[in-house]
Amino acid sequence: MVLTCVLIGFVALAAIASCRWVLTRVDALGRIAPFPRISVGLSLVAALACAVPLVLHAQLESKLAGAASEVVGAPVQVHCQTIGEAFVDVGAELGYVRWGADGVPEKKTLIKSHVCGDLRAWLRSSKAAPSLDQVVAVHVLTHEAMHMAGITNEAAAECAAMQRDQTTAVLLGASPAEGLALARRYWTEVYPNMPDGYRGECNPGVAIAGG
Ligand SMILES: [Zn+2]
Repeated sequence: MVLTCVLIGFVALAAIASCRWVLTRVDALGRIAPFPRISVGLSLVAALACAVPLVLHAQLESKLAGAASEVVGAPVQVHCQTIGEAFVDVGAELGYVRWGADGVPEKKTLIKSHVCGDLRAWLRSSKAAPSLDQVVAVHVLTHEAMHMAGITNEAAAECAAMQRDQTTAVLLGASPAEGLALARRYWTEVYPNMPDGYRGECNPGVAIAGG
């Protein structure tokens, strides 16, 4: 949001400098002033510098939403928290889906800024040797997808997500073997250390019952 405002500001600056030149380029003696190339050029370069991260952010969200929609089986939205939003955020969770009094989760999720950063790093990597943070980031997307699919119980969402981490990873570009390795690492290295509310009996039958 801040970046969007700064981008608009620089485009406006370039437009104002150009308009001023059009209106005042001929002086009283009929001489034509040179176009303010430097100020307009610098404003446009600054605007472009703001636009690039905005475009990359939107591309990442769209890619994650595409995979999550496949996993959920319905169109869903993924919002990656911006750095500005992270600055005022005090919550410890890695992502969330809201649901109201009717108990039906929304079809949109917020993924925390650093988790989206790990997802971006993983997407750009060979995916052969992900860091544990990257493994967790892929799982967070699957976990929130399970909430968006209608599961509100944390242990059930966690259980169902672990059975779909491979699918999410493959939808995002991993090979089936890389996806399976990632899912196994979450199961063996992260899940045992999750808080009690996130753990419970978990096997394919339980996941189906919970979902
Ligand atoms: Zn959850």
